[in-house]
Amino acid sequence: MTVKPVTVLVVDDNQTNLDLLERRLIRKDFQVDTADGGKLAIEKALSGDYDLILLDIQMPEVSGLDVLVELRKKFDAVSLPIIMVSAKNESESMVEAISLGANDYITKPIDFPLAFARIQTHLNVRNYHQALKKSEERYSLAFTGANDGLWDWDIEAGSIYFSDRWKEMLGYGPDEIEGTPDDWFKLIHPDELDDLKKAIDAHLNGDNLALIHEYRALHKDNSFRWFMTRGVASHDDDEKPVRLSGSQTDITQHKAYDPITGIPNQVLFLDRLEWAMNKHNRRQGGRFAVILIKIERLADIRNTLGPVKSEQILAQMAGKLNESLRTEDSVSRFEEGKTATLSRFDEADFALQLEDCGDENQITRLGERILQDICEPYVIDGEEFTLSCSMGVTYISGETETSAETIISNAGTALTRATAKGTNHFEIFDQKMQQRAFERLKLERELRHAIENGDLCLYYQPIIDLQTEQINTCEALVRWQHGERGMISPADFIPLAEETGLIEKIGEWVIRDAARQIKAWESGELGHLRVSVNVSVLQLLNDDMAERVLDILDDAAVDPNHLKIEITESLFMQNMDRVTHILNTLHDRGVTIAIDDYGTGYSSLAYLKKLPFTHLKLDQSFIRDVSRDVASQAIVQSTLLMAQSLGIQVIAEGIEEEDQLSLLKVLKAEFGQGFLFSKPLNAADFTAYVKAHQLAHKEAGRQESREKSA
Ligand code: C2E
Ligand code: MG
Ligand code: MG
Repeated sequence: MTVKPVTVLVVDDNQTNLDLLERRLIRKDFQVDTADGGKLAIEKALSGDYDLILLDIQMPEVSGLDVLVELRKKFDAVSLPIIMVSAKNESESMVEAISLGANDYITKPIDFPLAFARIQTHLNVRNYHQALKKSEERYSLAFTGANDGLWDWDIEAGSIYFSDRWKEMLGYGPDEIEGTPDDWFKLIHPDELDDLKKAIDAHLNGDNLALIHEYRALHKDNSFRWFMTRGVASHDDDEKPVRLSGSQTDITQHKAYDPITGIPNQVLFLDRLEWAMNKHNRRQGGRFAVILIKIERLADIRNTLGPVKSEQILAQMAGKLNESLRTEDSVSRFEEGKTATLSRFDEADFALQLEDCGDENQITRLGERILQDICEPYVIDGEEFTLSCSMGVTYISGETETSAETIISNAGTALTRATAKGTNHFEIFDQKMQQRAFERLKLERELRHAIENGDLCLYYQPIIDLQTEQINTCEALVRWQHGERGMISPADFIPLAEETGLIEKIGEWVIRDAARQIKAWESGELGHLRVSVNVSVLQLLNDDMAERVLDILDDAAVDPNHLKIEITESLFMQNMDRVTHILNTLHDRGVTIAIDDYGTGYSSLAYLKKLPFTHLKLDQSFIRDVSRDVASQAIVQSTLLMAQSLGIQVIAEGIEEEDQLSLLKVLKAEFGQGFLFSKPLNAADFTAYVKAHQLAHKEAGRQESREKSA
């Protein structure tokens, strides 16, 4: 916001005096206007906007005192300070001037430092009074609602003061919103902006006694909230509005309906659910269901389309669902006369309550139809969009003691299960599910402790050069030695760790322990051996992932070239830029990088070209059938050719049989891994295995050369 310069009107009939005063004032950064006579001075002062007037007393025709009297009719001494300028011998007029309302006087010849000090004093007094007046008004507004946000619009300056609370209500800190009307208007929902502006104009024009208006505004968390704003304008003596001040109240909660979709919000939904539950319990019977619907990736959709369009899609979706629940010709329609309440339960969650509904089969059919409805494309501004969702259902038949809370929580458990299955799934809650949910929680708690207690360990599986049959690398595979359950496979706890965020800690531990082992082998019996560790894509979402890995290697004094990381191919497409950056940083420092389980995910050549992969691990599902099934053979062969053309080496996973090995050798696969060579082993067993293998290899070599020379 720019600061308005202080404007002084200098009045003197003597042009030399006028010029001198003007020059000196301009040098002090004042904005100056001049009048060379009393008449012009009055005209200018009444129509202009001056902060202070320097007024010569002795002037022909209209004297300084005449001007003073005239101006004091309109401006009091606080709103417009007037300082008289006089000759030394005019003390009588000076006394009169003060009695007529002059603020002060200075004498000619002017002592400028003294004059500036006086001018500044009166300006300070004026500013102080104005600030006080403003803050009194603000406080009186604050009094009307301690929880409300306050705003104060200086119409002429085009600036608005927003109180900290006002900003906080929209999710912003004190310094995050500037002070112009546009800073306010850009937060208003586009459908409401015109109406708000009209309401403001109507009040400023005097058509409405006060401004009272409701609108939706965009919170920093990207959700729209309902607000009510109240304001009153103050006018100058010409009845021109100069200020508009008011308060803002968050009324989202009072609105029982979601501002965007117009359907009941959580408050109303829970209220209706309580009510329906009571009815259900009183009648002791009937069937009753709650369906929770989670719209997936809503945050992503918001980020790409912006909040307005994404909310429009949700509004369309809600409209479509409501419509579909009413449709009568559908087989699985919700029966006429029965109540169905669709509500916006949370940002991305919708809840549907069905009273007196059909049996489980009918609910399932209804659920499927809802899924289908939601997945149909939406058209916004001529563009097509699709949504995906998961649904969890609680179904109650017969007598029940259940509370509304339990119903919601059970539907939530079913929803979590549906989400875990992937997109567009539908699950009905049952007691077993509750048991599983409970066990999962227990497992999560134990996993947290496992890291701290050192119950995790690494097993190592050799990776063999198929042409020379030498051990080339090994893969580190994490194991959890559980006190009661014995060894738990990573397939059973890595997904849990990924969902709960524990993967970061586990991932870091794995790399640290692998680095320690690399060093131990290097300084012990095995020498250099590259170790490959599995890294979850979630770890790659951490911006400083590369630095952390390099630090760990540095701490352990391990050459980055002795570490390989394996990434499963399915997920990184969503965060390509970040992943590319991290992998490039690691690759530049010598870490080799493999794409794991190749062929099971999106298998796009584009990723292989863009990311710095040095190895490709062909998924074991292709190797399993490679010696029997022509299609698998074709896939293996074409992958090998493609990888070779890109300079990427292939590792065949899951080799269990000699037949598979022979065929892979014929197809010229570079490396192999599988139970045929060895299962994953603990570090001690692995060391022994490698030594035995090296020995056998040497022996075989000797045998071969003996045969050759014989
Ligand atoms: P993966 O990275 O594809 O690892 C290979 C899996 O195949 C290992 O299972 C290994 O024991 C198994 N395997 C090896 N050879 C054969 C074979 O000839 N036949 C059969 N049927 N299986 C074989 P494991 O150790 O249970 O690990 C499963 C998955 O868990 C790994 O698949 C990897 O995706 C993940 N994982 C393991 N350790 C870690 C880790 O430290 N961090 C992360 N993020 N994931 C890990
Ligand atoms: Mg792996
Ligand atoms: Mg694999």
